Formats: sequence, C-alpha cells, structure tokens
Amino acid sequence: NKHKKYLELSDVVKKYGEFTALNGLSLTIFDGEFISFLGPSGCGKTTLLRAIAGLDLQTSGLVIQNGKDVSDEPSNKRDFGIVFQSYALFPNLTVRDNVAYGLENRKMPKKVIASKVEDLLEMVGLPGSESKYPAQLSGGQQQRVALARALATSPGLLLLDEPLSALDAQVRVYLRKEIKALQNKLGVTTIMVTHDQEEALTMADRIVVMNHGVIEQVGTPEQIYQQPANAFVAGFIGTTNLLSCQLLSTSSLSTAGVNLACECRVDMVGQKALMAIRPEDIRVSNDSEASVNSLDVTVDDIEYLGAFSRVLVSHEDGLKLKTEFSMNVMRDLSIKVGKVITVTLPVEHIRLFPEE
Ligand code: ADP
Ligand code: MG
Repeated sequence: NKHKKYLELSDVVKKYGEFTALNGLSLTIFDGEFISFLGPSGCGKTTLLRAIAGLDLQTSGLVIQNGKDVSDEPSNKRDFGIVFQSYALFPNLTVRDNVAYGLENRKMPKKVIASKVEDLLEMVGLPGSESKYPAQLSGGQQQRVALARALATSPGLLLLDEPLSALDAQVRVYLRKEIKALQNKLGVTTIMVTHDQEEALTMADRIVVMNHGVIEQVGTPEQIYQQPANAFVAGFIGTTNLLSCQLLSTSSLSTAGVNLACECRVDMVGQKALMAIRPEDIRVSNDSEASVNSLDVTVDDIEYLGAFSRVLVSHEDGLKLKTEFSMNVMRDLSIKVGKVITVTLPVEHIRLFPEE
C-alpha cells in the first residue's frame, strides 16, 4: 500500500559535541517504497540511517515507524534488518548460523529454522551453501548472505548502508538488479544509503538528496535529474555546466562574453545567478539553421567516452571574456580540436538558480 505512511522523521537533529551532523530533517516514507539517501561522503547518510535503526539515538526530533513513536526505543526493540558495506558477517560462524542468528534469538524450533535458512539462501541465489564459512565466499556472495540474514526475521524495514560499494563494478551492477527485484517481490520498505548516483537513479522509487546534514531535494529519479531544486542537486546528479551569469530581464541573461535568451522569474531580474545546462542538451547546429542561442565556439578538447564524446568548447568575446562549457556529441568525425563550430543552447534546457 504505497499511500500508507510507514516511516516519519520529524525535525531530526544529531550533534556530535559542537558538530551538527543532521540539521533538522523531516521526511515521510511510504509503505513498500524503495528510498535512497544520496549525497557526498560525510553529509550524514549513515548517521540518519543509524538514528532510524536506533543504533545511535538522535539528539532531538521524532522517528515514527508504522504509526508508533520509536524515537527513544533501543535498536533491539525496533523492527528492521540491516546490511552494512563491510558485510559484517560473523567470521567464525557458518553461513547457516549467520543467517539463523536472528531466528535463534527468537527461539524458533530447529526444523523451522533449517527450512527458513534454506528458503532464504535460495532467495538470495546461494542455495546449498549452508556449511560454508564467510572467508570461503566472494564479496558478492558474502553480501548475499548478509542480505539473507537481514531478511530472516521478515522485518518491516530493510536498511542498506552502501551495500554494494565494496564490490567489483560487474558484481555491483547485477546485484543492483537482484536486490531491486527481491525488494519488489517482498514489498519491504527499504532505505539504501549510497554516494553513487547511478545506483540511486536505477534502484530507488524516490531519492533523498542530502548535503551537509540537510535534505536538498526529495523526488523520483526523473524529478531529481530533470528538475533539480537547486545548483547543488544540478551539479551533484549527472554532469551539468554551471556558469555564473547576470539576469538582464525575464528573457535574457549575460554570462562572461555572451548574451543568451532564457526564461527568468521576475524576482530574479537584475540579480547574479547560476545558469545550468547539461552537456547532452547542447546541440551542434547546421549552418543553415539560424536558431535562438546559437553560438560559434572553438573546440578546446575532446574526451572520447565510447558511446559519445564530451567536447569542451569555449566562446570568447571582443573583450576576451571566455565562456567554457562541455557538450556531448554522438559520433561526429568532423569535430576536431581547434575547429570553430556552431552550437545551440535551447532555452527550455537552461535552468537558473539564485547564487548562494
Ligand atoms: P556519510 O554516511 O554521509 O558519509 P556520516 O553520517 O557517516 O556521513 O557522517 C556525517 C558527519 O558526522 C561526518 O562529518 C562525520 O565525520 C561525523 N561523524 C559521524 N560519526 C561521528 C562520531 N561518532 N563522532 C563525531 N563525528 C561523527
Ligand atoms: Mg556512510
């Protein structure tokens, strides 16, 4: 039931002495959602996850889980399963005993536990590995065991803290799909911490973008990518050209040596701002095409990326003011370093943010 509130955070603050790691976060997560906390290292993702789990209590603020105020509850009274980046399996226990750990604490009959462990290992793609030890498994396999252990008690909430970060690129990509499919099948509300935007974009129903202990934006992957709320989100997710500019009117701006058409809010006119445009939104124009925001630029560098090339270009006006930006170009052999080409910066792809 994706309309039912499952987890509510209200004005959560966490201080370590004088340092404020979480600066008043509020957030509602719905039943069955896959949420990703995304942000640069040190922005407070793990701190927030640990507050939700009760592993480190918040300094102030509320955590409401499934309608119950758990703000002051210790972690062993809360309903969650957790997977850490470092696997954190018990090295001296077999896979069976690792997965069974939470079940044995609940004093279930041995037979029930054995059949549950079998099912769980089947579910994470490791059938028959009960008697192995963690050291005999690859990183990806250990993380599957950690996932089975986290899901063993059928928790209402699954917490994943950078679960794929320590794995090889290839393993990471297929485990992404598997974790997502498993979450979908079980319908368990899930929060995954990551600093990897691709991971968040491919896996999450909604992304919570964090920076310096605050939430910058909450939205679907499409919203975050296509309608970034501010310059930080625009710059952090994907690649974005961010240029300082002066807003001249509701329909024009000037940046270094160029005047461009734009759509600008009335209250921003006359102000300095940051102009954002993504490399994939800038087009190479044909000679015959006279369009708004066409600009002659010099090709300064070409970075070959396989499917496309990222081309660094610059425009210099009579006063030698230089505007530099990058653009993506599909295979185009005519583009060479030093050449002058005409490009178009479509008005609808120019975003403006107040300068902070
Ligand atoms: P993230 O998971 O986003 O990388 P963390 O939540 O681990 O970030 O940390 C957020 C900030 O809080 C960092 O600046 C970190 O140094 C600080 N921090 C985390 N844990 C502690 C602690 N136990 N004592 C003091 N500072 C801490
Ligand atoms: Mg962390």
